[in-house]
Amino acid sequence: MVKENLETVRKTIPSGVLLVAVSKTKPVEDIQEAYDAGQRVFGENHALEMRDKHEVLPKDIDWHFIGHLQTNKIKYIISFARMIHSIDTFNLLQAVNKEAAKHDRVVDCLLQFHIAEEETKFGLDIDEANEILQSDMYKSMKNVRICGVMGMATNTDDMNQVRKEFKHLKEIFTTLKSKYFADCEWFKEISMGMSHDYPIAIEEGSTMVRVGSKIFGERNYNI
Ligand SMILES: *Cc1c(COP(=O)(O)O)cnc(C)c1O
Repeated sequence: MVKENLETVRKTIPSGVLLVAVSKTKPVEDIQEAYDAGQRVFGENHALEMRDKHEVLPKDIDWHFIGHLQTNKIKYIISFARMIHSIDTFNLLQAVNKEAAKHDRVVDCLLQFHIAEEETKFGLDIDEANEILQSDMYKSMKNVRICGVMGMATNTDDMNQVRKEFKHLKEIFTTLKSKYFADCEWFKEISMGMSHDYPIAIEEGSTMVRVGSKIFGERNYNI
């Protein structure tokens, strides 16, 4: 089914929007099936799981880390991760920079913003982002490159609410772009949209959608 699902999803995604296939909890066989159908960009939210999958799967996969990242787990993914979507504290950005330096890499990162109503979702607010981007510490970092923003909307059927939150993230992007990144052509990504809300995210300016269950089926967290 993975191949068929992938093809169905692909038809709904315009060129210029990157599809990150979120394979968390799913076996490598499912990822291989998506790979064989041409998918190269995959997202995971646990460092060890991503490391283990990276070890056995084709080496031309672009691995995107999309979940909350603990600083002591960075070392498992830093040598190969293509992008980290989930920079949610200054401390994490500093730790990623430090680990990336050990591998002589510059790692692409997104600043994750808290745009949802739920208390539980991780993310920065605009004051914290300003504090990071204005600091000398940030300006001296050589091994991270901030490419844009990421956010998760409230998990609700109220699509007006979801749309409002995506609009908010787009506004944050535009503000940061003009304030700090006007001359950086790489600051261009807005990672927003999941299986149930990605069409709205695309309408609101998403450049990267993170789609899991619509491609790989529902996840079973009990196994
Ligand atoms: C799991 C996850 C997704 C994908 O969720 P689906 O609803 O299965 O598409 C996207 N983004 C993040 C951060 C996730 O953890």
